[in-house]
Amino acid sequence: MTETVLVVGGGIAGMCAGMALARRGFPVTILERDSPPPEGDADKAFFEWSRRGASQFRHPHAFLGLMCNLLEENYPDLLEAFYAAGARRMGFQEMLSPELMSKYQAQPGDEKLWVLMSRRSTIETVLRRYVAAFPGISILNGISIDGLITEQVDGRTVARGVRVRRDCVQRFGTEIRADVIVDACGRTTRFPFWLAEAGVTVPDELHDAEIVYYTRHYRLKPGVSEPPRTGKDRSAGDLGYIKFGVFPADNGHFALIVCVHNDETELRAAIKDGPTFDAICRSIPGLLPWIAEDKAVATTHPFGIGGICAQWRHYVVEGTPLVHNFFAIGDAAIRTNPLYGRGCSIGILHAHMLADVLAGNADAHSRAIVFDRRTEDELRPIYQASLSEDRNGIRRAIASRQGLVVEANKGGLKKWLGLAFGDAIAAAARYNLHVMRGMMRTVNLLEKPGAFLRDRRTQGIICLYMLRGRARNAVARIARGPTRTETLALIAAGQAHRNVDAA
Ligand SMILES: Cc1cc2nc3c(=O)[nH]c(=O)nc-3n(C[C@H](O)[C@H](O)[C@H](O)COP(=O)(O)OP(=O)(O)OC[C@H]3O[C@@H](n4cnc5c(N)ncnc54)[C@H](O)[C@@H]3O)c2cc1C
Repeated sequence: MTETVLVVGGGIAGMCAGMALARRGFPVTILERDSPPPEGDADKAFFEWSRRGASQFRHPHAFLGLMCNLLEENYPDLLEAFYAAGARRMGFQEMLSPELMSKYQAQPGDEKLWVLMSRRSTIETVLRRYVAAFPGISILNGISIDGLITEQVDGRTVARGVRVRRDCVQRFGTEIRADVIVDACGRTTRFPFWLAEAGVTVPDELHDAEIVYYTRHYRLKPGVSEPPRTGKDRSAGDLGYIKFGVFPADNGHFALIVCVHNDETELRAAIKDGPTFDAICRSIPGLLPWIAEDKAVATTHPFGIGGICAQWRHYVVEGTPLVHNFFAIGDAAIRTNPLYGRGCSIGILHAHMLADVLAGNADAHSRAIVFDRRTEDELRPIYQASLSEDRNGIRRAIASRQGLVVEANKGGLKKWLGLAFGDAIAAAARYNLHVMRGMMRTVNLLEKPGAFLRDRRTQGIICLYMLRGRARNAVARIARGPTRTETLALIAAGQAHRNVDAA
């Protein structure tokens, strides 16, 4: 290949695009505005690496089976480097409920059902160093791009290069040209605006998930091990007004997340305070074993991120590419709610799809069409599933604020059937290994979302669970924890206590 490729953005998708393209023989240059990771170990990267370009960098990340298998098949030595830095592999057996653990017998396919547990900073540090040494890739750090160079050719807009931001011109020149430009700038990409300046409107679908995502990081105290996963309370769940979860990570670190609806102003204000964040988490039985006072110490303050949206940008409209030689991948093209942990898997798959398409087609027009079609076929079902989960989450949060339960037995037969089916799936997955396997394939994006529900045996098992009745099944879904009123009372009590101390 002699065509040159410029990848703008050296986050997860950009780095993976670099590897996938370079392996197919394209000379690749990655342009990244942030500095490279500091020399040193995983903790140095976590505490000191300035990653202003990726605002989610210090929020915990789950790395799902789709991403893990893709990396294992293509870059096994990269995985070894992750492990050497402290990342851990969590296999299917370890994900099982206590009820299923004792019944477990390995089956072909189980080896694909695994996730990586690590801070994102550890993964990104190792990835960045690995890509920096990858043949055929050069990385320019500290370069900010602030424009797209286009040309009109036979009535079509064709991308030719990028403009370098004024403060970087002295080091890098005013512009960089290449045959193909890839937008891997993530959620804050400016390329759609630059295209608009060139007269090209990029339509998008945008749906607010209506949540704010709060994180606090901890380290286990010396000599303390992670709580066993055999407790009856799960370490992730949805209380309606709060969604919570634990992210075990590398080198004794872990993080807790608490997500609340945008309109929960009182909760949102309170949760930014460290002792209040901890008190709320300790009141949730599934989180308590992690942060009881003798177990762990906080390593950061609680911090939040808003603007959580699902977004899909269209670069082919009614069968016509909007621009030639330009491709958007990862968050720059498709975003889903981070609660489901799908973004990195989507980005890596998208990057590899792009490399396949560019290597398999020489014509600019057909590249755009084929990339768009593959994106729709492989990623649209994941996006749609995320959207429908978001809608349910929003409904539950609003009902909870009004003192209602969205799962209540009201609202007609159709609604009742839907809820009963949902409860039966949750119960079947908790107590039946076959259904659990199917559900984990969906969760890990190893099949189209919900594909396991088309399996006859799975359908039969779920029907049997439906016959047990909703009340029995719902126990598998419902997470134990304080009501919204109890949490607000806990916050008020903490505040009153502090006022007395201050006086
Ligand atoms: C709170 C939160 C939690 C998340 N949790 C998970 C999770 O558990 N699992 C999961 O898989 N995904 C998760 N995600 C999603 C995941 O972070 C993204 O999907 C993923 O990082 C997308 O990769 P990317 O390369 O497209 O973008 P990014 O990783 O954001 O990288 C974009 C890069 O482009 C650079 N850049 C931007 N503009 C310019 C410019 N003009 N010039 C030069 N460089 C530029 C930035 O510096 C950055 O390095 C989470 C997201 C959020 C917000």
